[in-house]
Amino acid sequence: MNKNDIFEIEITGTTDEGDGVGRAEGMAVFVPYALVGEVVSVIIVKVMKSFAYGKLLEVVKPSNFRIKAECEYFYKCGGCRFWNVEYEQELEFKRKHVEDCINRIGKINIDVPKTIGCESNKGYRNKGQFPVTDDGIGIYAQHSHRVIDVEKCIIQGEENPAVLSAVRDWMNECGVEPYNEEKHSGCVRHIYTRCGESGVMVCIVTRTECVPHGERLVEILRERVERLSGVLHNYNEKRTNVVLGKRFRTLWGEDYLVDSIGHCRFKLSPLSFYQVNNAQTKVLYDKVAEFAELSGNEVVWDLYCGIGTIGQYLAKDVKKLVGIEVVPQAIENAKENARLNGIENAEYYCGTAEELAPKLKGEKPDTVILDPPRKGCEESLLKTVAKTKAKKIVYVSCKPSTLARDLRILEDLGYKTVKVQPVDMFPRTHHVECCVLLCRT
Ligand code: SAH
Repeated sequence: MNKNDIFEIEITGTTDEGDGVGRAEGMAVFVPYALVGEVVSVIIVKVMKSFAYGKLLEVVKPSNFRIKAECEYFYKCGGCRFWNVEYEQELEFKRKHVEDCINRIGKINIDVPKTIGCESNKGYRNKGQFPVTDDGIGIYAQHSHRVIDVEKCIIQGEENPAVLSAVRDWMNECGVEPYNEEKHSGCVRHIYTRCGESGVMVCIVTRTECVPHGERLVEILRERVERLSGVLHNYNEKRTNVVLGKRFRTLWGEDYLVDSIGHCRFKLSPLSFYQVNNAQTKVLYDKVAEFAELSGNEVVWDLYCGIGTIGQYLAKDVKKLVGIEVVPQAIENAKENARLNGIENAEYYCGTAEELAPKLKGEKPDTVILDPPRKGCEESLLKTVAKTKAKKIVYVSCKPSTLARDLRILEDLGYKTVKVQPVDMFPRTHHVECCVLLCRT
């Protein structure tokens, strides 16, 4: 097989990232935007040892589930994967992906139920990170740092077009340079936005130590963005893919947001993690509550607790709550949020779960909540948890493959995977959240 060869192939599967998979000359060919069951014409763009990447030229026989994409940037942008297929099929892809990972990687036989869908597939994101480059302001193309210029991202909150246009106009008017990644020159790297009940926070990330014409930026944003509650500056002078640097400065307004999930209120600072889809977060946490089935007599560890959300959501049915989180600002938020929510039975510790959990004194936990980042848990932490002989573990994961690896480890340490529930927090993208109940055998 060679680059630029053209084949007609049948799509028989889907990769973890939502690309179609077919075969040509005995090799697997990955084809973005091709759907299972379709016959497509592809041109080979890259040949690897055992597989190749193809570009879709023509859909020869379309899937019954193919639809016209609602987003005008869909076929260029690397953000979403599923605007060209009916939502029910996307939910099924996510269910099957979770089931496959748990079966194959976790070697655990369990049926995974239907993914809980999201009522609204648009405007659900409360956080945006838009790279600013010579090519424009927008979103990266798939597996690339080439920026697709967008005026409006339809999965983002409704204020994002006003923010993007305000920053564009400020840069044009004041001659502020975009960042150039190759040369590590220029000024504005990213526009970082977050919104919640208290308003919209806009943070401008620059390579330079100050924001040139910062007062004018504030003025334009205040004119255009209706619910603006704060304008921040983040200084990131490093050559890195990490969006945010460590230093924040307030240019105007508040340097935090306040938001609600069900009966709880949460304050969060810009560096703290917060689920991006508020409506579905309640659905997810209700599932955690259902799985945990707390009676009010349990000691609960909330590991990777962020700003304290899951534990505090459950706290009225908990005897004692212990939270661990590595980001200092998030732990400060968690302590303040406990006060805000009238919770007096919570303790919070800042550090890594793997280092701090073995040192926790006092009563052993009855229930442990694990909600790690994509890379999952350290094996040593899982051993620490198993050693406590906690009766239940509720594992919340945003990456099925590392979840499956960790479930295997926990099964080998004396736990049984009892229930699994995928929840769609990120409609139209390939990402899926999952909640799992494990019980001690
Ligand atoms: N449970 C929270 C946060 C989940 S995201 C919520 O639902 O909002 C995962 C969190 O784990 C992040 O806040 C991240 O800062 C934190 N984290 C990452 N590695 C960690 C580690 N090794 N130990 C403790 N916390 C960690």
